[in-house]
Amino acid sequence: MKSLEEYIVLAAESHGHMCPGQVLGIRMAQLGLRSIGIDDPAKARKRLLTFVEIDRCATDAVSLVTGCRLGKRSLKFFDYGKVAATFLDIQTGRAVRVAARDDARAKAKAMFPAVSDANQAQLQAYKLMKDGELFNIQAVRVTLKPEDLPGSPRSRVACEHCGEGVNDSRERRQGDRVLCRSCAGEGYYEEVTSNE
Ligand SMILES: [Zn+2]
Ligand SMILES: [Zn+2]
Repeated sequence: MKSLEEYIVLAAESHGHMCPGQVLGIRMAQLGLRSIGIDDPAKARKRLLTFVEIDRCATDAVSLVTGCRLGKRSLKFFDYGKVAATFLDIQTGRAVRVAARDDARAKAKAMFPAVSDANQAQLQAYKLMKDGELFNIQAVRVTLKPEDLPGSPRSRVACEHCGEGVNDSRERRQGDRVLCRSCAGEGYYEEVTSNE
């Protein structure tokens, strides 16, 4: 594993700026990985899965440190709005969930009262604070279905309404019809017709 300072340089490049959330994300991933016995994430690509609970700055840093990516199915996103992540070694089943403490922000601000830029103060403090001041960590068990694992798709069916293909058992069954989630009423979009 690289050092915090090394990750900070890399994270600033790939995320576009450096911010307190990313320092938190880097340290969250470092703590999580160490806690499940993974010291070199680059060598653990095939066995490491990460579950993130927010789509903000910290998540980019977690992805950077772990090497887990959405496109590799090794990064799973649960939209809980929480700065937290779970790190799972699928070989051993060991997993921990690391959540940022809500009181860390106030503590960080109090550490550098002379720094007028609150963001800077927070960023510097997050580098120095102890793991226990920044995070709560708990051992957890994650039960994964085969169709959630990385690797080639386990199944593929065509939606009987729109005809689009659906991988990995994400289809819905309504009566005797097989539908994609959109056609089953779970869509996040509506079609716009040309005369609208
Ligand atoms: Zn950011
Ligand atoms: Zn459909």
